[in-house]
Amino acid sequence: MDPDIIVHHPCSCGNNRESKFKTYQNERRELLGAFCTVCGDEWLHKQFLGEASSENFVLLKHQQLYHRKRKEVSSSYCRIRDLTEIKLGDHIRWEEFQGKEQLFLEAIVVGLEAGDALISVVMMQKQGFCELKIGRILINLSKITKIEIVDYKPSADPVELVTARAVAWCDEESAVYNLFTMKSKVFANYCKCGSGDKWKITWLVGSQFTQISMTVLGSSWRSGKEEDCQTIAEKGSTRTKIKTGIVIVANGAAIGFDMDDVMKEKQEDRDAENFINGYIERFGQVLTDCGCNINGALAHNIPGGGIDAITFPTIDVQISVFIASVLKGKIPRAPQNAFGTPAGRAFGKLIHKSLKREDEAVDLKDIHPGDHVVLPGRVRHPRCHAIVVSVNNKTNKIKLIRNTFERGVVEEWVEVSSPILRVTYPLGQAYPAETVIERARSKLGERRYLFARYNCKHFAVWCESKEQA
Ligand SMILES: [Zn+2]
Repeated sequence: MDPDIIVHHPCSCGNNRESKFKTYQNERRELLGAFCTVCGDEWLHKQFLGEASSENFVLLKHQQLYHRKRKEVSSSYCRIRDLTEIKLGDHIRWEEFQGKEQLFLEAIVVGLEAGDALISVVMMQKQGFCELKIGRILINLSKITKIEIVDYKPSADPVELVTARAVAWCDEESAVYNLFTMKSKVFANYCKCGSGDKWKITWLVGSQFTQISMTVLGSSWRSGKEEDCQTIAEKGSTRTKIKTGIVIVANGAAIGFDMDDVMKEKQEDRDAENFINGYIERFGQVLTDCGCNINGALAHNIPGGGIDAITFPTIDVQISVFIASVLKGKIPRAPQNAFGTPAGRAFGKLIHKSLKREDEAVDLKDIHPGDHVVLPGRVRHPRCHAIVVSVNNKTNKIKLIRNTFERGVVEEWVEVSSPILRVTYPLGQAYPAETVIERARSKLGERRYLFARYNCKHFAVWCESKEQA
């Protein structure tokens, strides 16, 4: 397969490379759907859409595939009485022991042998520390216990699509690194009902976040150990007895990194606290450099409900992350009191930086043409920077020029509500309003959005500011 075939009707995230879609095919090699490996959206053949056929499509291998909203699903576990109840495309769960630890494994049935207790399933499995693999395995039904079938009532997709999804992921050549909690259930659930937030977070956000962690930690990555969220939250210490290091809690997973050796190796003239906090600051820096948005203020929840919400570029979901230092075997304060800890301060600083301290929240009536404003909250694009062209106080609408990922630089009316964040520039540093609008308009139609280097914020700053490279 040519890895660079261009898809002329790309995914809504902009992905136009055929190699960046995972395709679902049935046994006759007919294309049933595709998964965009950039944003996690799924595109399906129109036979799976029901009545809600949409205008929105991708053109893949000469076929139109459509977007379908993921429906709400509920499911329940049903103990089976007879092995013959197991059918192709079923989501099954069974019990297994690894040492003393009891595990429930979940998988999709993709092959049955009549009269035989052997079945072929596809499942997501942990290989080693933070290492995952999706693959096909044979299981002997007579050797496993407590087998259950997950019943989705009518909300599961047809068997053909379920097995095509499962099989599509078996071509992953090697394991991927992913430090998010990996429940085999999440994969099976996605195969049954389609791509949703849980699957996007688990697979796409998880691997991106892990890559970032590896970049920051370098060789200390190898010191990673699985931790227990509860111990971290309640006792403010780690289960694996780390003396000096970092813990990362994200999406219900907790990992500790022991940095004692790194400290000794570097023999730097810094105390442990400074050393570790340097890593935490760098973490936040790398996150923002990679185009992640760090949103909002510090939360006071338990891990998993974390210190801050992070949105990753192109992926339409938020995750909570808590990163803390471990000093003398203790986390200076447990996550629910994170505010005021070194970790909290490092993150707090970063949030401030990304919000800019000079920004002010103002009423719509105080917004004027030429202003640089920051619009809050849409998930796909959490905070959007824009240049104001005109304001209509009656309709609560602002005419804006901004650089968007999907459409490049556009001028359009947008409905807003007060308060609105306005970026203020030091006196004499910004161009006069007419010049700002002129500069913004000179870029209309331009399409060169780059997450880290030329996003909506860079564009707005370029329009306003006299001082730039
Ligand atoms: Zn996409």
